[in-house]
Amino acid sequence: MSVLIFVDHADGQVKKSSFEALTFGAKIAAQIGTTAEALLLGTVTDDLSTLGKYGVTKVHQVANETLNHLDAQLYSKVIAEAVTTSGATVLVFSHNQTGKAVAARVSARLKAGVVTGACALPDTSSGNFIVKKTVFSGKAFANVNINSPMKVISLNPNSFTTIAGEGVADVVALNVAVDASKVRVAAVTKIVGEIPLTEADIVVSGGRGLKGPENWGMIEDLAKTLHAATACSRPVADAHWRPHHEHVGQTGFQIAPNLYFAIGISGAIQHLAGVNRSKVIVVINKDPEAPFFKAADYGIVGDAFDVVPKLNEEIKKLHA
Ligand code: FAD
Repeated sequence: MSVLIFVDHADGQVKKSSFEALTFGAKIAAQIGTTAEALLLGTVTDDLSTLGKYGVTKVHQVANETLNHLDAQLYSKVIAEAVTTSGATVLVFSHNQTGKAVAARVSARLKAGVVTGACALPDTSSGNFIVKKTVFSGKAFANVNINSPMKVISLNPNSFTTIAGEGVADVVALNVAVDASKVRVAAVTKIVGEIPLTEADIVVSGGRGLKGPENWGMIEDLAKTLHAATACSRPVADAHWRPHHEHVGQTGFQIAPNLYFAIGISGAIQHLAGVNRSKVIVVINKDPEAPFFKAADYGIVGDAFDVVPKLNEEIKKLHA
């Protein structure tokens, strides 16, 4: 019996969302009186023993390079076998792209109850295992009791504070058969220099109010000043003003940065569905009646073409 936390990685480095999942899993382990261990598929350049800082005693690694890229079928098979070998009874993912693709598949293989999009530690006080999760695109919460012996949880990114201590984990090779994949990775496109949107602490996002792609310079400048990622509303991506990997919302990426700037975006419900878990939302819109102001922590009523360059200059002065 242990808690096993799946550690996701990209470009040889452990993803930030995995540190939250590790902290979350270690807290669950403490709560139910067991140990927390980590599982990593593939190879990384990071020193895996440092994951001990987040409360795990052991890191199981299936060091097969075939596993460096997400292949949901293969991952779920390998993870299910790893869970069985390690004897874990709770499996934790981050609810990122990998977690979304794999958590339900693994739970089906393990005949486990699954809660995706968890946002708090389980309530085990009454002998149950009740997990709070967001539903209806973050508009409501549900408390779900997992009553199967094996439990799978995926944690919403940015919903749990990462705590790093002093621990060092043992890194052990896990021998799990890795079948030849049915999926062939044809090419990997790396977007050089950009901060990955789903991992960013700050996101500067633009909408149709910016009139055209030629006006995105001020969005990029502000993002550069703030070390932020850039994002956009769906019509902006549909019109090819910006690439589709920047589209946030119900049909795009769902993000939860600490700070989200919405510039020239009306705040349609489908857009909010992707960003309303942001910790602080700043809206810049020339229409005081724009619906986004209802979801804003800070609002600036004004023309983005005036406000954004001035805001950028003021922030630069603070950094100088
Ligand atoms: P608009 O609605 O045109 O708003 C532009 C805003 O800019 C206005 O509020 C205006 O006042 C302001 N503005 C104009 N000029 C200026 C200026 N100079 N300075 C400051 N402000 C200015 N949308 C998404 O974003 N993501 C999704 O995932 C998504 N999924 C969808 C799924 C479905 C099934 C459907 C039906 C729709 C979906 N949409 C999605 C579309 C969504 O309903 C809205 O149409 C869209 O979000 C509007 O984009 P926008 O706010 O950029 O543009």
